Amino acid sequence: MKTIFRIGLIMQLGLLVMIAGCAPEAFVLTAEDCYEDETFVEEDQYCYLTCELEGTCAEEPGLLTFFGDFLSGLGDIVFGIPEDANVLVTYSLQNDRPVNPVEGEPFTDEEADILEDTASHEAMWQEFANLVPAENRRQIAEYGIFTDGVDNTMAYVEPIPGNETQWKIVMDAVDAKNKKEQRYTLIHEFGHVLTLNNNQVPFDVEAYQDDLAFEEAAEACPRFFTGEGCANQSSYINAFFNAFWDDIYDELPQDQDPDAIYDFYLQYEDQFVTDYAATNPGEDIAESWTHFVINERPSGNSIADQKVRFFYDYPELVSLRDQIRARLYSGSRRD
Ligand SMILES: [Zn+2]
Repeated sequence: MKTIFRIGLIMQLGLLVMIAGCAPEAFVLTAEDCYEDETFVEEDQYCYLTCELEGTCAEEPGLLTFFGDFLSGLGDIVFGIPEDANVLVTYSLQNDRPVNPVEGEPFTDEEADILEDTASHEAMWQEFANLVPAENRRQIAEYGIFTDGVDNTMAYVEPIPGNETQWKIVMDAVDAKNKKEQRYTLIHEFGHVLTLNNNQVPFDVEAYQDDLAFEEAAEACPRFFTGEGCANQSSYINAFFNAFWDDIYDELPQDQDPDAIYDFYLQYEDQFVTDYAATNPGEDIAESWTHFVINERPSGNSIADQKVRFFYDYPELVSLRDQIRARLYSGSRRD
């Protein structure tokens, strides 16, 4: 093992010279940077928790302590797709790296500064890559950056029309500076990709882009229609909808007026893990997923607790939870 590490170090030194100036050094780790409970993975140049590599993180004491207070101190978090987002730059993702930037037009000095700061673009993508395992982030083909100032929308994801198996993630560069909120946000956004991707919900590009086609497609769908398409029978979101939304969906304000949704939330407060979760079933499953990742398994009888326990019925999601928790813990102690 030691020999492998040493070869790795030499290779990394060479690589560091090559990428100096275009990638933040903090993310290029060497074996010597690893904590005692971590193992260096040459291919990723990253220290992973050994328990993640061995699949035994569920009872790791340091990890449990870390998550004990993760949710405290989080600000108001919003994720909806803003109607007028000025995307400053869009990257393609190739071999897991953001490449071929296509620049938009900055309208303010702040936007111009963000556009110029390419090292932070790289770092923001790396934050996502450090959190979500490689095989689970392959569906993301584009990565963009925008800002609407502090808070408001912190990030959003959407399918890419014309490339229905792929998604785009767009992050707010200003909000990304709050690491805790950013990580919560990225788990939430990944929750959308996990529950709305083409294998779960076949993407209906016409309905996604056209209001009339949307109404027709929603009407014709015998299961839950998410906005992206008609959910497959066995999809997570269809099961989630049938279990938790079937009887209250008609009461959800269809115009998505925030005040009306807040009233709807107050009426069914014990059904939701956050007020934002009441926005619609898609946001509810993303928020419940995030709480499933961050919290211990709840034992209460509330519907909100049942929604978090919903994910434990899927072994692949329990395994994904363990991996993301290990990565979040591991990444957070390097801040
Ligand atoms: Zn969302």
